[in-house]
Amino acid sequence: MEEERIVSAERHSEDDPQLEVGLRPRTLNEYVGQEKIKEKLSIYIRAALDRNESLDHVLLYGPPGLGKTTLAHIIANELGVSVRVTAGPAIERPGDLAAILTNLGHGDVLFIDEIHRLNRTVEEILYPAMEDNALDIIIGKGPGARSLRLDLPPFTLIGATVRAGLLTSPLRDRFGVVDRLEFYTPEELEKIITRSANILNVKAEKDGAAVIACASRGTPRVANRLLKRVRDYAQVKADNIITRSVAEEALQMLQLDEKGLDEIDRRLLMALIEKFEGGPVGLDTLAACISEEPETLEDVYEPYLMQLGLLKRTARGRMVTNEVYSYLRLKPGSTSAQQKLWD
Ligand code: ADP
Repeated sequence: MEEERIVSAERHSEDDPQLEVGLRPRTLNEYVGQEKIKEKLSIYIRAALDRNESLDHVLLYGPPGLGKTTLAHIIANELGVSVRVTAGPAIERPGDLAAILTNLGHGDVLFIDEIHRLNRTVEEILYPAMEDNALDIIIGKGPGARSLRLDLPPFTLIGATVRAGLLTSPLRDRFGVVDRLEFYTPEELEKIITRSANILNVKAEKDGAAVIACASRGTPRVANRLLKRVRDYAQVKADNIITRSVAEEALQMLQLDEKGLDEIDRRLLMALIEKFEGGPVGLDTLAACISEEPETLEDVYEPYLMQLGLLKRTARGRMVTNEVYSYLRLKPGSTSAQQKLWD
């Protein structure tokens, strides 16, 4: 396996789960950004509490690391119920899901991460559970088999996925609330970094936090991870205080530019420029060029590059934008990496 990217938004094997939990906001008020979703959710939560009902099922989608799991915990906390956390690939057989469902308390939240990876037979158990709070189980085999319906307590399913389109439509249709999480602005990330620095007992000056925020790819998980690396640097090289220059030097050491692009991003953009004259080129061809899976390219690499306005998806394939040439300091329309730097 390749070395994990410091800026990847997915959970790393080295990320300390204890620390991640410690940095997680616990209430909607503490949760920074995503204002529209927060406003809607706080209304739905209040209404459900007033009616003494469980909250409707919620589907959250968007790139990894934007706070879907955190939001699921917050929803449960605000509802005053327990949360059971699992993931699509972890539920292998219908019986596994039946066991989880029958163990839920009244009104509890069931969070299923990567819900698009549930297998079909498991998914079918979920339909009556979501719709009628019922569990259909088959007893026996062959001609003597019969189906038995068990009642379940009311519960709220919160599903998370990178793209809503990855779900089958019968599953997607059963969610009453469907919301997309957006990338965070540098100002929002700065708030998250300042909050995390307080929890971690490290002193971060405003300018230092701002530098880390800009390189965090719009993603709180990356922001927290970079903060930890910069903290190490500050501790060893600079009196334990994260100033602007300490943050800049640490990013340089990590080989990140000021927008958080690393070698892989630059390779991808250069491949588009050098091999395909800037595009358009099909997803599969581009992925093969940088030895990556098309899905990884599409769900993990591309969203942030598009957000920065360096890459666009067109009907005919992927293309770089004009901005990419000045960003990489290349002559506009150039096709060769050997060309002189454009100053
Ligand atoms: P996802 O489930 O979308 O992959 P997580 O909910 O696990 O993302 O979030 C990753 C980390 O980022 C969490 O540990 C949390 O500390 C932090 N985080 C996410 N969203 C926010 C937010 N809105 N405010 C503060 N911290 C956040």
